[in-house]
Amino acid sequence: MSRILFFGIPAHGHTNPTIEVVRELTSRGHEVWYCSFDAFRHKIEAAGGQFLSCDKYLPPAPADIQKKVGRDFASLIEMTVDTTLRMEQAVFEMLKRWKPDCIVSDSMCTWGKLFARKHNIPFVCSTTTFAFNRYTARLMKPGIGEVFRTAAGMPRIHTKMKRLQEHGYAVSNVQQLIENDNDTHTIVYTSREFQPMAETFSEKYLFVGPSVADITVKKRPAQKPLLYISMGTVLNKNDTFYRNCIKAFSGCEIDVILSVGEKTKISALGKIPSHITVRSSVNQLEILQRADVFLTHCGMNSVNESIYYGVPMVLFPQHSEEGLVAMRAEQTGTGLRLKSIRPSRLRKAVFKVLETEAYRQNAQRISHTFHNAGGAPKAADMIEKVSGC
Ligand code: UDP
Repeated sequence: MSRILFFGIPAHGHTNPTIEVVRELTSRGHEVWYCSFDAFRHKIEAAGGQFLSCDKYLPPAPADIQKKVGRDFASLIEMTVDTTLRMEQAVFEMLKRWKPDCIVSDSMCTWGKLFARKHNIPFVCSTTTFAFNRYTARLMKPGIGEVFRTAAGMPRIHTKMKRLQEHGYAVSNVQQLIENDNDTHTIVYTSREFQPMAETFSEKYLFVGPSVADITVKKRPAQKPLLYISMGTVLNKNDTFYRNCIKAFSGCEIDVILSVGEKTKISALGKIPSHITVRSSVNQLEILQRADVFLTHCGMNSVNESIYYGVPMVLFPQHSEEGLVAMRAEQTGTGLRLKSIRPSRLRKAVFKVLETEAYRQNAQRISHTFHNAGGAPKAADMIEKVSGC
């Protein structure tokens, strides 16, 4: 039996895929502890992991966080470095007592990576986005504002790198914090076929496919087509978009489920016809098994989950990382990019995907690669190997 310590960031999309891996490891008899955030306690414990709360170490979120997520690189680095330094004392005490055989850390969770290196603990990187290196970085197309903010934020980033060095962390530049390197054992939750430039990653990369909970829903008898719409769990405050969706599909012969997030006041969205269901949050995996098309913000998990269930997509990315996911969905013919959020355009894009069989066939073709990628058991095999058991 091994002792395995997970580190995550406060994001559903980065936590969800790891839950099935925790379940697989605990079912094999390993002891799993997970340094995460209160919103995920229940999921982690239900999978058999021991939950360690890190909420108190997060610096206060800036008031304009909705504008910053995915678009302000310097703020992201400041947040991750500050979190690392706030939690290091408590984690070091714990490492001394508990002595894990392996640390598994999300690729964006720089503190897990830094603690593992500093204490010479075997390490596995868990990548819920596409694997990221200097080649795939060139595919990202940041907006002009994003480029400007990153350039303007470089002095702040240098200051934080210096702070890490003063605390004994061997990082010479910011790339070392954020890029995947070819020497680290890395789990990627998509298939090699869906990963852009897969040939640029070493054999240490294990593409295991989406790690999706085993929920099976009975197919509905053929009724009206079902459109599912979600902007994910982070940048999901967009009342104009939701109102336009309601307007666009009000008179249509389709059923619609719209997940608008906890920050959106549903009563402020106006009159909602009975064939459109609006909720703050839904069980996405359950709905995707019944859906015919998914209008998505192109979070990596949403796109992975959609393809996993063979559902073609309309693509509405909000920043450069989601732009890369949308680009790959377009390249593989599994989705169509939305040109504008005008109701007429929304309707046109959704019906084009519904009526063009090739989108569904392509989604099913890639879905096949996801189902054959090995999933959580293959990820657990790698963690066991690195732990030395
Ligand atoms: N999700 C869900 N219910 C919702 C909306 C989202 O269960 O109403 C889940 C979804 O299945 C996925 C995650 O939240 O696993 C969203 O992750 P993604 O990477 O797509 O986007 P993010 O929220 O990180 O922007």
